[in-house]
Amino acid sequence: MTLADISAHLAEAAILLDFDGTLAPIVDDPAAARPLPEAAPVLDALCDRVGAVAVITGRPAEFVRELLDVPELEVVGLYGLSASPPLDDDVRAALARIASGEPGVELEDKRVSVALHTRRTPDPGAALARMREPVRALADAHGLTSFEGKLVVEVAPPGPRKEGAVQQLLTRIRPAAALYAGDDLEDAAAFDALTRSGIASCRVAVVGSGTPERVVEVADIEVDGPAGLLELLRTL
Ligand SMILES: [Mg+2]
Repeated sequence: MTLADISAHLAEAAILLDFDGTLAPIVDDPAAARPLPEAAPVLDALCDRVGAVAVITGRPAEFVRELLDVPELEVVGLYGLSASPPLDDDVRAALARIASGEPGVELEDKRVSVALHTRRTPDPGAALARMREPVRALADAHGLTSFEGKLVVEVAPPGPRKEGAVQQLLTRIRPAAALYAGDDLEDAAAFDALTRSGIASCRVAVVGSGTPERVVEVADIEVDGPAGLLELLRTL
């Protein structure tokens, strides 16, 4: 599937986009992430011409909605897990204890999930490696799952995340063609959902620092960071 095929079916297509590293450059402090200034106008213009435009993110949906003023944009937050109950206080407290052993770890409590970011630690890769096992053991002991992204390990309820969210969107929208763009492992899983759907689709790897090899491997197209993605979306 090429971009030309997406363009040919634009009015019945779905454009599905990750947020961090895809529309917003990755920054050291997750709370300080902002979309590129051109992102909102580009998405707004797309909403007029495309069947459906959605952001699918691990962030709470409100975080993205506040930063992207695009009325017709659909935002699926928390990997599609927003209906899940919050994690137990015990689990949140245990994760805070694990984080406190690594100076500089940023704990992002999203209630249904908790993410531990190591970007601001002295050695982010080593800090992530040291937390991996205790976090996994804690998740296992509580019937939860742990998973990683770029310099982050997160605990959430078991089951599909972005993959499931994309599957649900595609089932509901039934687009004639779909484009998905992302930069991290959860997005590679979303690519798989697109492939399995049988819908004509184009998978875009948004390449930046730390983009996992697997994302590039399963993508049809690579673009250079959020600016490269916006350039591509303008051509549709
Ligand atoms: Mg991302």
